Amino acid sequence: MATRVDGNPEEDVVVPLPEEQDEYSRLHPYPCDFCSRRFSKKSGLTMHMLSHQIERPHECNLCGASYSRKAELVEHMKIHAYAPIKTEEEEEEEEDEGKEFQREVARMRKDLSKDEVR
Ligand SMILES: [Zn+2]
Ligand SMILES: [Zn+2]
Repeated sequence: MATRVDGNPEEDVVVPLPEEQDEYSRLHPYPCDFCSRRFSKKSGLTMHMLSHQIERPHECNLCGASYSRKAELVEHMKIHAYAPIKTEEEEEEEEDEGKEFQREVARMRKDLSKDEVR
């Protein structure tokens, strides 16, 4: 008994488009650049964009600058790549310099008082 291989009707099945998704994008033609939300009115999108400007979740852990878009933060981080980041050692050195300066001031005061005595 031979099996018929021609004219398989199943192969012509058209995969239906995700109609719900399509309908959703059609009704919400204003996509947000920052997240995947879409809006039916431009004013709705504008309002929504404001919230992105207020909340800046991408914060630079080096200087605290914050950005609403991760791409902006990445762009910002480039400035740190050129400007050397202060290490703890360098900060300590600065503290020592401060103490040194205070000692100098103390010496100068002593000298001044000597002058007064003279
Ligand atoms: Zn958004
Ligand atoms: Zn920074």
